[in-house]
Amino acid sequence: MTDKMNGTKPPKMEERLYQNRYMVDEGRPHVRIEHQRGGDSPELRALVNICPAGCYRLNEEGRVEVAPDGCMECGTCRIVCQATGELEWSYPRGGYGILFKFG
Ligand code: SF4
Repeated sequence: MTDKMNGTKPPKMEERLYQNRYMVDEGRPHVRIEHQRGGDSPELRALVNICPAGCYRLNEEGRVEVAPDGCMECGTCRIVCQATGELEWSYPRGGYGILFKFG
């Protein structure tokens, strides 16, 4: 696929995401998992595939973990797990979080 305006190929999504920068608030993650007894819900497990920044993964025990350092603050995980109560989600403090590069 080429850009119709100038005939060049548009950058891949990974290349676009690489342009963003993150200010990590050390020791104060803005997304946390409150694991429930009886295992992770299907909603929480789905985040491993849904999160556009790849912040969720399964650990060796098969439980979901989150590393929100590259979070784009899209809110998808917050909405998906709203009814399960497994996520504690807030925006990062001022000056921290994602710095989008536009253009
Ligand atoms: S807010 Fe979006 S990018 Fe951040 S962890 Fe949730 S799904 Fe991933």
